Amino acid sequence: MYDYLIVGSGLFGSVFAHEAKKKGYKCLVVEKREHIGGNIYTYELEGINIHRYGAHIFHTSNKEAWDYINQFATFNNFVNSPIAFYKDELYNLPFNMNTFSKMWGIRTPQEAEAIIKKQRQEVTKIENLEDQAISLVGRDIYEKLIKGYTEKQWGRSCTELPPEIIKRLPVRYTYNNNYFNDIYQGIPIGGYTQIIEKLLDGIEVRLNTDFCKEKEKLSKIANKILYTGALDAYFDYSLGHLQYRSEKFELERLEEENHQGVAVVNYTEREVPYTRIIEHKHFENSSSPVTYISKEYPVDYSETGEPYYPINDKVNTELYNKYRELAKKDDKLLLGGRLALYSYFDMDKTIIAALELVKNSLN
Ligand code: FAD
Repeated sequence: MYDYLIVGSGLFGSVFAHEAKKKGYKCLVVEKREHIGGNIYTYELEGINIHRYGAHIFHTSNKEAWDYINQFATFNNFVNSPIAFYKDELYNLPFNMNTFSKMWGIRTPQEAEAIIKKQRQEVTKIENLEDQAISLVGRDIYEKLIKGYTEKQWGRSCTELPPEIIKRLPVRYTYNNNYFNDIYQGIPIGGYTQIIEKLLDGIEVRLNTDFCKEKEKLSKIANKILYTGALDAYFDYSLGHLQYRSEKFELERLEEENHQGVAVVNYTEREVPYTRIIEHKHFENSSSPVTYISKEYPVDYSETGEPYYPINDKVNTELYNKYRELAKKDDKLLLGGRLALYSYFDMDKTIIAALELVKNSLN
């Protein structure tokens, strides 16, 4: 008999399992994929660590999360400075003086502020995402850098999307291309999988095991279950399906040393079907003579079966809350991670949430 059956070997399940083992609990981890690590899984090809489920950049201002992850890998000093590509024009992201200077041929923060201030005034009533974006950054930035990208991301026109999707659009009046404002940032040298391997060291793991397909049997072999999969799947979709947006990642090997000169390029025009091209070698400055790129295509969940981004609208939130009520009736069950909580969490928040659950449920 196990003390804990942990469903899912992603970051949440692995941190929990590691801490539970340290406290003397006997754990079993089951994972439906053929590898551990969930979406932070990386693997090596010709000296390049590939981020299989999309670019993962660790960034945080939370010292506890940073110190925790640094126990399991050495991080490099990677700074995310993506480029936006719009109809053969290149712009720096996030929106900063480099972006504005290129867009309007200006030089000073005062000039940029005056242009944005004037363009923002165009909107008097906010009814949709387009109004919201223009009211925050003006029409030029919206048209070139937000509109097409967002429409591809959500598969709908910005005028049909609710304004709440964009709460803030940070604008920086300095020449600073660092995408994140966090104190700590980097990529683990050697990739993310080593972190999960170390977290799960000495813990029994069963791969290719879908808990939901063997729920009856597996539920009986442990006193408690930490479930990090999708909550509707746990209840066999008895109340209906939760909706997600998904992504398709197309990996290509190129016989060249340096394809785009930067890890992340966003394609912001609607006509290009993908949203981003990731060139994996730039995360760790690999000196490989070849390169690997991934094109990221936003698609419907039904196309991939991979639930990436929850759609936290009214209908889905109501459905999710009903599943939560069902889950509360089961004292054996703990929920954690992005899928079971139907929320998007960055890695640092995932670590902190797992440590919180450890504090509250293990002694
Ligand atoms: P997951 O990694 O999804 O792990 C859940 C695991 O449970 C999976 O392995 C799954 O196969 C398994 N599972 C599910 N159901 C079952 C079942 N029935 N039986 C057995 N196993 C099951 N965060 C950052 O901080 N920086 C970034 O740059 C960043 N980029 C991202 C890019 C993309 C495209 C996505 C989708 C996320 C990104 N994130 C990023 C977020 C990051 O991926 C998450 O914080 C982290 O992976 C969450 O870990 P988790 O354990 O909650 O979920």
